[in-house]
Formats: sequence, C-alpha cells, structure tokens
Amino acid sequence: MCIFCKIINGEIPSKKIYEDEDVVAILDISQATKGHTLVLPKKHFDNILAIDEEYYTKVMNTARKLAKVITKAFNADGCNVLNNCGEAAGQSVMHFHVHVIPRYKGDDLKIEFTEHELDLNEIQEEILKAM
Ligand code: AMP
Ligand code: ZN
Repeated sequence: MCIFCKIINGEIPSKKIYEDEDVVAILDISQATKGHTLVLPKKHFDNILAIDEEYYTKVMNTARKLAKVITKAFNADGCNVLNNCGEAAGQSVMHFHVHVIPRYKGDDLKIEFTEHELDLNEIQEEILKAM
C-alpha cells in the first residue's frame, strides 16, 4: 500500500485540513511555503493519466476551494496549484495529488520554465495526431 493510502487509512499520522467522502487534504510534511497543502483522492490512482474524470473533478474542485481558504488564512499574495506526473516530472509519491502552495512576495520558492527553441507547428501537428 502506498504512503498516501496509509495516511488515508490512518496508519500514518498527518495534519488533515479537509476531508469528505472521496477527498482528503493534508499539510505537506515538507512545507515549500507556509500552508503548503496536498489534495488527494481517497481512492488510489497512480497519477493524472490514470485518474478518472469523476475523482479528478472532485480533487480539483477541492483544490480550488482550499486555494481560497489557504491564501486567506495566511494573507498570501497568490498560490501555485500544481501536479507532478511521473518521476521525470518530479512525482515522488505515486498516488495522484495536487499541491496547493501559497505564495508570498519575495518567497524563495523557485518554479522556473526554461525556454527551448522548438518548432510550434510541428508540435501542434503531433498533438493533434495523438487526439
Ligand atoms: P510529489 O513530489 O509531487 O510526488 O509530492 C509528494 C509530496 O508528498 C512531497 O512534497 C512530500 O513532501 C510529501 N510527503 C511525503 N510524505 C509525506 C507525509 N508522510 N505526509 C505529508 N506529506 C508527505
Ligand atoms: Zn495510494
């Protein structure tokens, strides 16, 4: 059983801030910024490629609501709502979850996009072919 399933089952302690029939939100053990929260479905799905629409909608809607609560609670200046899918993308716990990370002007968190010279036409074509 994965670590988040153990948390959901109460086998591992966590700081829960929200729970309903299908979704749980806990404080990330490693706070990237004050209030960093993880929103997860109670049912195990490995990642965004595996989760079904019903659970995805429930998780994302909870993330949206908690983003408001958390930014208000800490008077944050904004927030990042993000998901890592697969090891290459930085996923370390293979149970789908969404990070809600409050942001504060001047905080030291780095989420950077580096620019690459790529052909947008080619990329668009490849994606449309895969649909
Ligand atoms: P990711 O790298 O997107 O898979 O995120 C996994 C997150 O889970 C990391 O930010 C970890 O700090 C967090 N994490 C791992 N173990 C625990 C735990 N026992 N309780 C709360 N958060 C955890
Ligand atoms: Zn799990």
